[in-house]
Amino acid sequence: MSINVTRSSMPLFEEYCEEIKDLWDSRWLTNMGAKHKQLQAELEKYLDTAYVALYTNGHLALENVIAAMNLPQGSEVITTPFTFASTTHAIVRSGLVPVFCDINDVDYTIDTTKIEALITDKTSAIIPVHVYGNICNIDEIQQIADKHGLKVIYDAAHAFGVVKNGVNVSNFGDASMFSFHATKVFNTIEGGAVTFADESLMQVLKDMKNFGIRGPEAVAYVGGNAKMSEFQAAMGLCNLRHVDDEIAKRKAVVERYRFHLSNVGGIKICAEQENVKSNYAYFPVVFDGYKYTRDEVFELLKSNEIVARKYFFPLTNSFECYKDYPTAGAEKTPVAQYIADRVLTLPLYADLTLEDVDRICNVILGCCV
Ligand SMILES: *Cc1c(COP(=O)(O)O)cnc(C)c1O
Repeated sequence: MSINVTRSSMPLFEEYCEEIKDLWDSRWLTNMGAKHKQLQAELEKYLDTAYVALYTNGHLALENVIAAMNLPQGSEVITTPFTFASTTHAIVRSGLVPVFCDINDVDYTIDTTKIEALITDKTSAIIPVHVYGNICNIDEIQQIADKHGLKVIYDAAHAFGVVKNGVNVSNFGDASMFSFHATKVFNTIEGGAVTFADESLMQVLKDMKNFGIRGPEAVAYVGGNAKMSEFQAAMGLCNLRHVDDEIAKRKAVVERYRFHLSNVGGIKICAEQENVKSNYAYFPVVFDGYKYTRDEVFELLKSNEIVARKYFFPLTNSFECYKDYPTAGAEKTPVAQYIADRVLTLPLYADLTLEDVDRICNVILGCCV
């Protein structure tokens, strides 16, 4: 049986049907209906955060929160290239210039010792990524941001439910963006959110997702359309009931991977972060001096009908669309380049059986299968 790198969490068919039943009575399918409002309230509770604004996807949530920060057009934003295309694209599409900072080789988040050297009088913000659900060095980042008067927006697409020292990840920086895409730990089919503590952001975040419409005859803002529909919100309400179970099952999968792959020469896996409650979103493995290269392991798995992912390869600063971009160039972020050339994320989802994990590890270890 083939194994994909991920498999979306879904409630029972009957549970979803029950959840969407009211929509046939209300005939209210989108535009901040009852499901949307309920999911928003439940997420504020689950994420233990002041405000949640829901979006039709994580990318537009990120573009919208960047716009809400009112950063000067053409100003520079410090970020990392070891991320999904969305992070860098959102910065560029917002008329800002991404300045690429390298990552550290422990948890692959932004190397905070390299941030200050990149700050100029044009720098307006830092957009770090909690990559694989690993939390960035939030204290260092905040200190640097405060010293230089910069905004901090976290790409927390991977970090739903992660808690550090009792504080949910949604509370760090000026705002955080979450993705509820089908492949993420918590999904609303497509979907996303911004979390924030500053109440004054609420109006502009609302305006931006609904054409700036404030009343039947009042359009106060040049907004776009990024609303989460009732069907998406209904999926979220169902999935939220099960997300803790899903995370517990992911944990068992990750522990099995660790059991097989810890202490194998040439295979490097991330240590668990201290005082962090993980969501077990991804299981990245770095092949460095192993008997097979990353690409060989990828092919070996593929020939056994197992799909792993070169995540993140290529780096965003080596994308073709940025080849003429002045700040691009993977050689400027050597650690990120090194990891991107060697990393593979292994199949990981709640229903992956431990027997399948054993089989995947046997293939990687070159045992008879
Ligand atoms: C998934 C993801 C996004 C984009 O979210 P969508 O909901 O797919 O638009 C942004 N950043 C990172 C790191 C992601 O993994």
